[in-house]
Amino acid sequence: MDRGQRFLASLRDGRNVWLDGQRVPDVTKHPAFTGTLRTISRLFNTLDTPGIQEQIGFVSPRSGSYVHNAFLVPKSQEDLGRRTAAFAHWAEQTQGVMSRLSDYARSMVTGWYAVREAFAADDPHFVEKITRYYETARDEDRFLTTALLDPQINRAKRIDDENPDAVLRIVRENSDGVVVRGAKMIATAAPYTHDFLIFPFYHVDAAHPEYAHALIVPANLQGLHIVCRESFASADTEQHPLSSRYDEMDAVLIFDDVLVPWERVLLKNNPDAVWRLRQNTSANALAFHQTVVRAVAKLRFVTGVACAVAEAIGVNGFLHVQEKLGELLTQVDTLQALVTASEVYSYLDEFGNQIPAIGYLETARNLNSRYYPRAIEILQQVGAGGFMQVPSRASAYEGTVSDLIDKYFAGATVPASAKIKLFQLGWDLIGSQLGARHQLYERYYAGDPVRMYANQYLHADKRPYTQPVWDLIRQSEA
Ligand SMILES: Cc1cc2nc3c(=O)[nH]c(=O)nc-3n(C[C@H](O)[C@H](O)[C@H](O)COP(=O)(O)OP(=O)(O)OC[C@H]3O[C@@H](n4cnc5c(N)ncnc54)[C@H](O)[C@@H]3O)c2cc1C
Repeated sequence: MDRGQRFLASLRDGRNVWLDGQRVPDVTKHPAFTGTLRTISRLFNTLDTPGIQEQIGFVSPRSGSYVHNAFLVPKSQEDLGRRTAAFAHWAEQTQGVMSRLSDYARSMVTGWYAVREAFAADDPHFVEKITRYYETARDEDRFLTTALLDPQINRAKRIDDENPDAVLRIVRENSDGVVVRGAKMIATAAPYTHDFLIFPFYHVDAAHPEYAHALIVPANLQGLHIVCRESFASADTEQHPLSSRYDEMDAVLIFDDVLVPWERVLLKNNPDAVWRLRQNTSANALAFHQTVVRAVAKLRFVTGVACAVAEAIGVNGFLHVQEKLGELLTQVDTLQALVTASEVYSYLDEFGNQIPAIGYLETARNLNSRYYPRAIEILQQVGAGGFMQVPSRASAYEGTVSDLIDKYFAGATVPASAKIKLFQLGWDLIGSQLGARHQLYERYYAGDPVRMYANQYLHADKRPYTQPVWDLIRQSEA
C-alpha cells in the first residue's frame, strides 16, 4: 500500500459524513469525493518520490520517513525557503485551486509547537500535549483543517443567553475529557480530514469561560456530524477539468455532546490564554505564509488562462485587453513581492524560530480578497461570449458535423479541439458551481474582508503617517 492508499484507508474510521440527507458509509467510494481524493492521494505520494521528496519534505527524526515541510520548524531563512518550496509545489500541482491541502492547519500546529513554552503557565499539560500531537500528526500524515466560526444564526449577538448552544461550548467534563455542544462553520475539506483545529474566532468574554477552548478534534468522535453542502464535483474530466479533480467539500460540524479526550484539550475555560493562542504571531505567520504562496499560484493560473484565451481568439492586440492582462500580471507580481518581502524581513522570535513578517502577509491576504474576484471579471471580459460557444461533449461529434465543428470552433492560433478545451477550463473557473464557490472562498476564507481591512487601520501605528503632515502644517504656520 502506498502513502496515498494508506491515507484513503484511514478515512474508513466510522466518521459521520452527511450528504444529500444520507450518511455516507465510505467517503472514498462516493462520487462527490473520489476525484478530489485521487488528487490528494497523488500529492501524498510525492513524499515518496525521489527528486520531489527532498524539495517538499524532511526526514522525521522519529519515523525515519519523509514528512511534509509544513511540519518543519524554521530556524533559518533557508528553512523558510524549504517551507515555501513545499507549499508552492503542491499549489502548482493543483493550479492553486486546492487551498486546503492541510498545509495551512499543519503550519498552525507547527507554530503552536514552536512557541509551546509561551503557554506552559496557562495549562501545565499544554507543552506535553502539543508536543505529542505535533509528532503524531507529522509522522502519521494527519490531514488537518480548521473550523473557527459558529453558525450564522444571529450575528447581532455574539453569545446569546436565550440560545446558549449557538456558540460552541463545554457543557460538562469528566475523567475522560470535556463534552462540547454547538456547531462550527465552515470546515473546508471536512469529510476527509483526520482532525479539526477548533477554537473561537473572537475573544470570549470573561463572564462566559465555557466558550473559550482550544481543541484538536478527531473526525470520527461519537456525536460529531459532518454536514456537507451540495457537491460541485463532476465525473466529467473533459468538460469540467477542475470540478472533476478539485472540489474541496465545505461542511458544517455539529457537535451533539461530543466527548473530546483530555489529550486533545489544549486549553479550556481560559478566554485570555485562548485569545493569545489565536493571536499568536509566530503560528499565524507560518500559516498565513502558506495561504499567500497558494494564492500566487492561483492568480498565476488565472492569468495564464486569460492570456491563452486572448491569444486563441486574436484579441490580444486590442489596447483595453492588453491593459486588463497587464492588470492580472500586476496582481501576480504584487502578491509574489509581498511573499518575498515577508521572507526577506523574517526574524527570529523569542524561541529562535525564523518567522515571516506577518504584516506583508496580512496585506497580501487582504489584496487577494479583491484581486481574485477582479481576475475572474477580467477573464470574463476577455473571453466574453466565447465561454458559451462551446459544444457540449465536443469529442463525441463524428462525420460531417465533426468537420463543421473543426471549422467553426477553431481559434486564431489554435485548432477547434484545443480552443474548446481552453474555454471549458475557463468556464470551470468563471461560471461553474466550483468557480462560483471559489470567488466566495477567496473573498471570505481569511475572514470578513471589511473587518480585515479595518483591522489593518486599527492595528497600524498611524503616527509615522500623521506626524509629517502636522510638521508641514506647523512649518506653514511659522
Ligand atoms: C468557501 C468558504 C470556505 C471556508 N472555509 C473555512 C475553513 O475551512 N475554516 C474556517 O475556519 N473558516 C472557513 N470559512 C469561513 C470564513 O472564515 C468566514 O466566511 C468569514 O470569516 C466571514 O464570516 P461569515 O461567513 O460568518 O460572515 P458574517 O460574519 O456572518 O458576515 C456577513 C455580513 O455581515 C457583515 N457583518 C457581520 N458581522 C459584522 C460585524 N460585527 N461588524 C461589521 N459587519 C459585520 C459582514 O461584513 C458581511 O457583509 C470559509 C468561508 C467560505 C466562504
